[in-house]
Amino acid sequence: MAQKTGLGTRCVQAGYTPGNGEPRQIPIIQSTTYKYDTGDAMGRLFDLEDSGYFYSRIQNPTTDAVAARIAALEGGTAAMLTASGMSANFLAAFNIVECGDHIVSSSSIYGGTYNLFSVTMKRMGAEVTFVSPDCTDEELEAAFRPNTKMVFGETIANPALTVLDIEKFASHAHAHGVPLVIDNTFATPINCRPFEWGADIVTHSTSKYMDGHGGALGGCIVDSGKFDWTAHAEKFPGLCTPDESYHGIIYTERFGLEGAYINKATSQLMRDLGPVQSPQNAYYLNLGLESLHVRVPRHCSTAQAVAEYLNAHEKVEWVHYCGLPGDKYYEVGQKYLPNGSCGVVSFGVKGGRAEAENFMSRLRVAAIETHVADARTCCLHPASTTHRQMNAEELIAAGVSENLVRYSCGLEDPDDLISDIEQALA
Ligand SMILES: *Cc1c(COP(=O)(O)O)cnc(C)c1O
Repeated sequence: MAQKTGLGTRCVQAGYTPGNGEPRQIPIIQSTTYKYDTGDAMGRLFDLEDSGYFYSRIQNPTTDAVAARIAALEGGTAAMLTASGMSANFLAAFNIVECGDHIVSSSSIYGGTYNLFSVTMKRMGAEVTFVSPDCTDEELEAAFRPNTKMVFGETIANPALTVLDIEKFASHAHAHGVPLVIDNTFATPINCRPFEWGADIVTHSTSKYMDGHGGALGGCIVDSGKFDWTAHAEKFPGLCTPDESYHGIIYTERFGLEGAYINKATSQLMRDLGPVQSPQNAYYLNLGLESLHVRVPRHCSTAQAVAEYLNAHEKVEWVHYCGLPGDKYYEVGQKYLPNGSCGVVSFGVKGGRAEAENFMSRLRVAAIETHVADARTCCLHPASTTHRQMNAEELIAAGVSENLVRYSCGLEDPDDLISDIEQALA
C-alpha cells in the first residue's frame, strides 16, 4: 500500500493486502518451515538469489507483514521484528559496530540499553562515549573518534523524559560519515517520525505503546534507506564487502541502499543469533498497532492533565513533562512533538526516596510495575529498580534522581487517576 495515506490508515491497513477470498486479518503462519518441490529452488533461497521463506528463524510471513506495517508508519524502506526491544537495539548496533569500533550515545537512555553499550558490547570489544542530550556542538564533536560507527539516542528518553535534538545529532553523525540510530519507543511514529528529521535507523520496543496492552514482548528495527553506506565503505565492511557466509554477496550491491541494512540483519544476524519474534506475538502486536493512532492521543491528554495537577501540588518537588510550559524540554518538544509527547510523566515527591516509595505504595488505581506505556496505569521508582546498578554519578548523567517516580498514564478516566494521586499524596 502506498505510504502517502494518513497514519491512521497505515495503522490498520499497511503491510498486508489480502487477495480475493484471502483472510482479512493478517494470518498467523505458525510454521517453522516451508515446503519446496526441488532442492534447486531451495538452494537459490539459501544463496539469497530468490526471495522466499524457508525457515522462520530468518523470516516468517506474519512477522514480515507486521514489520512492513511499522516501516510504513515510520516512512522507512524495510523493517525487521525482533524478540524484544533490547534485541532490536543490540542488532541495530551489532549490524554495523564490530570489535574495535566505537559508539557515541546520549547518556539519557533506557537503563537496559545503557548496560548493553557500556558493559555487554564493551566485553565484545566495542566502546561507547556517552554525551549529555543537552551537550554543546563542541562537546558532541569531541566525542567522535576515527573508529566511531554510529550515534544513538532516544526521541523521548525512558525514564528521564529528556527530548533529543534529533537534527543536531543527525548533522554531527553525518559530518562523520555515520548513521544516527533513534529509539522511538516513547514517541511512537504517531507523535514523531525521526526519519523526517535526519535519523537513519529507528528502533522500537514494541512491548510498549505499539502492543499497548502489556501482552507481547517485542522489538523492531526500521531502515530509512537513506544512509549511503557505500560513500563510507571503509567504515562499513559488513555492508560493502563480500559476506563469506553467503558466497560472497555484497549487501549494498544485491539489495541497494533501501534494503542492504535490514537484509544483512535478517539473513546474517538473525540466522546466527536468532532472537526472532514469534508469529503469535506479531499477531498480538498487530492488534495493538491497529488502534495506536487512537490510543496515543488519549495517553498524551491524560498525561498532560496529570502533569498539570502534579505541577500545582505542594507536595511535589518537580515535574518533568515536555508538554508543560516552562519544562526544560518544552521548546524542543514543540518542535519535534507538536501533537503530544507520550503518556509518561516523571516527578519528584518532596521528602526524597522514602516519600517516593511511600507515595507509590498508597496508590490504588495505578500499580507498581516494571513496565510503561500500556492500557493500565503503572508506576516505578527507577533508582531502586531499573537503574539500581548505577552509582550516584551515573544516575545524574542518566537524568534519574533518587526521588524520581515514573508514572505511566494508561487509558483509565483521567479524573480517577488524579483522585488516586490526590489521596496517595495526602
Ligand atoms: C522498554 C524499552 C526498551 C527495551 O525493550 P524490551 O521490549 O523490554 O526489551 C528499549 N528502549 C526503550 C526506550 C524502552 O522503553
